[in-house]
Amino acid sequence: MKFGGTSVADAASISRVAGIIGDYRKTGHELAVVVSAQRGVTDQLIEISTKLADAGETTMIDPFIGSLRDRHVRAVRGAAPAFAPEVEAKVEELLRNLTGILNAVHHLRELTPRSKDYIITFGERLNAPVVSAALRQNGIQSEVLDGCEAGIVTTPQHGEAMALPACDSLIRSRVGPLIARAVPVIMGFMGCTESGVVTTLGRSGSDYSAAIIGSGIDADEIWIWTDVDGIMTSDPRLIPDARVLPSVSYIEVMELSYFGAKVMHPRSIEPAMRKGIMVRVKNTFNPDHPGTEIARVAERDSRGVKGITYIDKVAAVSVNGAQMIGRPGVARAIFSALAEKEVNVMMISQASSEANISLIIEEGQLDCAIEALTGMVRQGIVREVSANRDVCAVAVVGEGMAGAIGTGGRIFTALGKGGVNVMMISQGSSEHNISFVVRQEDGPKAVRILHDEFRLSEEA
Ligand code: ASP
Ligand code: MG
Repeated sequence: MKFGGTSVADAASISRVAGIIGDYRKTGHELAVVVSAQRGVTDQLIEISTKLADAGETTMIDPFIGSLRDRHVRAVRGAAPAFAPEVEAKVEELLRNLTGILNAVHHLRELTPRSKDYIITFGERLNAPVVSAALRQNGIQSEVLDGCEAGIVTTPQHGEAMALPACDSLIRSRVGPLIARAVPVIMGFMGCTESGVVTTLGRSGSDYSAAIIGSGIDADEIWIWTDVDGIMTSDPRLIPDARVLPSVSYIEVMELSYFGAKVMHPRSIEPAMRKGIMVRVKNTFNPDHPGTEIARVAERDSRGVKGITYIDKVAAVSVNGAQMIGRPGVARAIFSALAEKEVNVMMISQASSEANISLIIEEGQLDCAIEALTGMVRQGIVREVSANRDVCAVAVVGEGMAGAIGTGGRIFTALGKGGVNVMMISQGSSEHNISFVVRQEDGPKAVRILHDEFRLSEEA
């Protein structure tokens, strides 16, 4: 079971989590727990370390450390009074360590990806002992492990590290034997390289930690506890009548989360999928709700479409030129140039005339992309590069769309009737996802139109 930042944000929510775990143990199950930092702490760690490396003042450090101390001391005194002295001593030790590192960042005016990764794991380091103490307060044996101790070995890509195959046997030998006698509380979001350097798994990485651990111990199920009832047909802030999906497939949830639905860390499905472990998404604040089940095969209904997501922080880049026609290697040159600048391409479209290739990238990477591609204009490989920030991308997702005749027709007819102009379309041959690009201001309207067209608010 993984508990996200809102689920373990303070004494009250941590006590609630201890209750959920206690109830579950009473039904005769064994489990391991993965926890996030308390809500907002990771953001604060990123903010202060960035500022200190920039132009910040050392005077920022004390108040920040003080606020972390207050927060965690209050949480442990409320949720685990009997163990407060022990945990407070641990918190003090961690904060001394963190103070030293933050001072060093300031003096060096340098925040390398490696030091940043170490710093931003402190949210999890501070919180896991509090959650573990809350379990003991509720009569449940518990032990704390950091991600590294639990056996999460990763690639050395700081900030976006990925689990190595060696995790499975390490986790089995380190976490497996513990479970029979205690509930291990494992710090999410972090791992280390084979040589022991601390890494992080990307924002919201505790989901991924939980999947890696669940797969390592051959869990029957992986439960992601969050602050919403489950995975929804669309973003409820945009679509107030969006509905919780009782069942989605691994593929569907990957498509949804890659494309902006903030349900889960996009990589977290992969370890579960490899072993066919069922993943459940549940709400800590409404535990009786069945939530969403994620498995190899999901329930299907005649609609084919499961959900609609959209991302607005994207830009469209278009590369044009008659000299591209029938010339092998142009696409390779474009993608190599972008890869060299570490620009991630989210969508691609090329019409059969070959005189134009359109790409969708993150808006923040647009300057890098333009720089990379104008080099190709100078070399005469393409004639011109143009960009448009004023766009957003929408994805219609559902495994049931594969082979269902007329889904594309319905999508674009409905958009046309609603007066939405479609600027770019992309569908992979798996047919699990039809993505398209519209003007920024048309994005919410497009999602609304399609949510209605496929009657996604209605129960199956
Ligand atoms: N604490 C980390 C973050 O805020 C990881 C997580 O919450 O899953 O991104
Ligand atoms: Mg999270």
